[in-house]
Amino acid sequence: MTDLTPEREEPRSPPKCFSCGYELTGLRVEDRCPECGSLVWDNNRFIPGYGFAVTSLVLGILSICSCIFYGIPSLPLGILGVIFSQGSSLKYKKYVHADGAYSVATAGKVCSWIGIVIGILGITTTIVIFMNS
Ligand SMILES: [Zn+2]
Repeated sequence: MTDLTPEREEPRSPPKCFSCGYELTGLRVEDRCPECGSLVWDNNRFIPGYGFAVTSLVLGILSICSCIFYGIPSLPLGILGVIFSQGSSLKYKKYVHADGAYSVATAGKVCSWIGIVIGILGITTTIVIFMNS
């Protein structure tokens, strides 16, 4: 007979120090590894996808700033920012201590969405002005 019980969700692997492998359960981002003294936050940099989170934040900020160009670059930059943020935050779910990196990805997502709204408003306004001139 086949087993009909749904597959259990994989348990979160305990967060480990990337320098020495010490378990970092219960520590906060600003704490240091009790074994080797490296910052827990520094360990975030080695989490796969941290670059994605930073890229997403940069794209989000750029998309907001590019509203000076009638918001036209804001839309593609914002969309890219959301995609990068989405990709990185999915990877962070495995790491309990990745709060800091997770906030970077969230900040990137928020900025990117603001950029998308600015882009849509800017492009709509540009089209309306163009049609009426
Ligand atoms: Zn350590």
